[in-house]
Amino acid sequence: MEQSIEKLISDNAEKFEKYYNMLVEWNQKFNLTAITDREGVFVKHFADSLLGERYVPQNATVLDVGTGAGFPGIPLKIVYPEIDFVLVDSLNKRVKFLKDVKEALGLEGLEALHGRAEDLARDKSLRAAFDLCVSRAVANLSVLSEYCVPFVRTNGYFVSYKGKKGLEEISNAQNCMNVLGCKIEKVDDFRLEEDEAERLLIRIKKCKGTPKLYPRKAGTPSKNPL
Ligand code: SAM
Repeated sequence: MEQSIEKLISDNAEKFEKYYNMLVEWNQKFNLTAITDREGVFVKHFADSLLGERYVPQNATVLDVGTGAGFPGIPLKIVYPEIDFVLVDSLNKRVKFLKDVKEALGLEGLEALHGRAEDLARDKSLRAAFDLCVSRAVANLSVLSEYCVPFVRTNGYFVSYKGKKGLEEISNAQNCMNVLGCKIEKVDDFRLEEDEAERLLIRIKKCKGTPKLYPRKAGTPSKNPL
């Protein structure tokens, strides 16, 4: 594991242990994760989520879209307790789990919301309200950008966690970037020592306000990507 990430985890060991135990316990009743062995969760969920730590600005408000069991949002919140996070998922059972984790870990400044990104992005208190939006394993880059970019304030960022297929998705996302008024500013690639798979973090800058039309109604972005 990258040394700095290993340190972030060991500095917050008690919280990560508690989170791991809750994940495995709840997973017996609800489907939260296919990975349940300790090493797997610490590397493929916790360390992987923390790769995005370097993109979190100071005093930011951060949104995680399609957070599932809390990735990458909860590990980022654990290491940045002073930063406000909102986690969104369309499956209510997962949101209930996140609320329980919040209580158990004493995470102030964390809100878990149930809903689809396409609907929540029309809420005045959420639209263009975040300095940073993150998302992992939810949809292809064009679909995901339509979900995420409307939540970001102008000059803020959307960081998409991808595997190596991300490169292909980038080449298909140009129209989407133009329509949404944003641009791919940087693509960083990483490998974690314990898990050789290539990881790409795509940093997208929102350059101007999102046209009112977007996101289109729930279900349309995935059926008919920009
Ligand atoms: N981000 C987590 C991770 O990396 O482990 C979860 C990934 S899981 C494959 C995708 C999650 O996105 C699911 O929990 C699903 O309910 C949620 N999701 C899918 N479409 C969504 C939408 N339109 N709005 C909000 N959540 C959505």
